[in-house]
Amino acid sequence: MQLSIKLFIISWLSGLICISCTLPPTHFPQATPAPVIKPGAKTQISSISPSATIPDNSNLAPPNQALKPLSSRSAAINAQLPPSLRSLRDIPAVPGGIAWISLPISSPIPPRIWYQQKPVLVLRDGQQWVALVGIPLQVQPGVYYVIDSQHNNYAFTVYNKQYQVQYVKINKRNFVNPNPEELQRIQYESKLIATALATPWRATTYSPLPLKQPIQGKLSSSFGLRRYFNGQPRKPHSGLDIAAPLGTPVLAPSPGQVVNIGNYFFTGKTVLIDHGQGIVTLYGHLNQIKVIEGQTIEIEQIIGTVGKTGRATGPHLHWGVSLNQAMINPQLVMQ
Ligand SMILES: [Zn+2]
Repeated sequence: MQLSIKLFIISWLSGLICISCTLPPTHFPQATPAPVIKPGAKTQISSISPSATIPDNSNLAPPNQALKPLSSRSAAINAQLPPSLRSLRDIPAVPGGIAWISLPISSPIPPRIWYQQKPVLVLRDGQQWVALVGIPLQVQPGVYYVIDSQHNNYAFTVYNKQYQVQYVKINKRNFVNPNPEELQRIQYESKLIATALATPWRATTYSPLPLKQPIQGKLSSSFGLRRYFNGQPRKPHSGLDIAAPLGTPVLAPSPGQVVNIGNYFFTGKTVLIDHGQGIVTLYGHLNQIKVIEGQTIEIEQIIGTVGKTGRATGPHLHWGVSLNQAMINPQLVMQ
């Protein structure tokens, strides 16, 4: 038995946990298979087995990648890699993580790069460029590719990661098993949120990352927890829970535009902000929402207050960070 499976967190932490994502895992989207390499494209596959499991605190070096030079194409604006993101280079790509892909091109204009048909964040790194690719939680370990506008492929390896297991006892039955009407509502709302996460890619003159922590408080549930509610498996936790008193102001972690607000079954009063370059953040269980859809917001602007709306057992912020439509661990990009 895996060590992490033994790490039971028997938790009925009133006030510290969100009961979001209580659909059974059969509702997971299927992993998208790796694209086929085009003839002539140069790639190099890491000698490290992708089935190797990356523990939570691993510092295993990332695989080397032999990359084909990109042909230049005018795309956007010269956003520089902030020094604080440089540590991502040394963190292996895992489900829910970020792949660092160096692009040996010295063109003054950024290349356009796609992963699973979605454009990804590209930043200036010295004389060259780097693509930072969000890896969906449901992706299986293996070799994957990004592609540029000239159909050149660049390989990277996704390693296995065993997130901790959390067993939670819930007393409210419909928190665990929504009824058919609630399931319909959940499906409808999932589409609204998915649409907001798929907001069209927008160039920025700055790097939207790193993100400032939107509130201070105890990290009450980490990203990726594999959850069992009353013994029944549920989707892994797709965000970071930060506990704070009711009414605590929630601050925008980076400039952006509000792309969706709503009062949803799971996440209650919710705000989604597009920060550009495929980065969208989500704020759930708010008590009050202080912004409107379409509003342009500055960094550290108050967007709402901490609450316990939706399926939450107490006041906390559920913070989701999506990179190229993949929910990633917010702690990877927190300032
Ligand atoms: Zn949460």
